[in-house]
Amino acid sequence: MAGHHGDRDGCKEIARLVSESHDHKLSLWDRVQLRLHLAMCLMCRRFSKQLAFVRGVAAVAGHTDPDSPLASGTIVDATLSPEAKNRIRSALQRGPSRS
Ligand SMILES: [Zn+2]
Repeated sequence: MAGHHGDRDGCKEIARLVSESHDHKLSLWDRVQLRLHLAMCLMCRRFSKQLAFVRGVAAVAGHTDPDSPLASGTIVDATLSPEAKNRIRSALQRGPSRS
């Protein structure tokens, strides 16, 4: 097992699986891979939580502001800090028009 901490290629693959899991059902093998990796990799666990959060926000944002980068999924590629998440949250509470 090459399950060493900091396996960047493995993490990339897992990131792909995580985002795919939001679009369609993964195969059994992919799900097993995902679960095993998430169990030992904090980074990917965090990423998968953030993606679930962003997907939820994007669904909400899609109702209020279809032109928002959130709605188009652009922001999914970015690694979100807790600060960024708070910004998104308060932006949504304030609504798209800030002026
Ligand atoms: Zn990982």
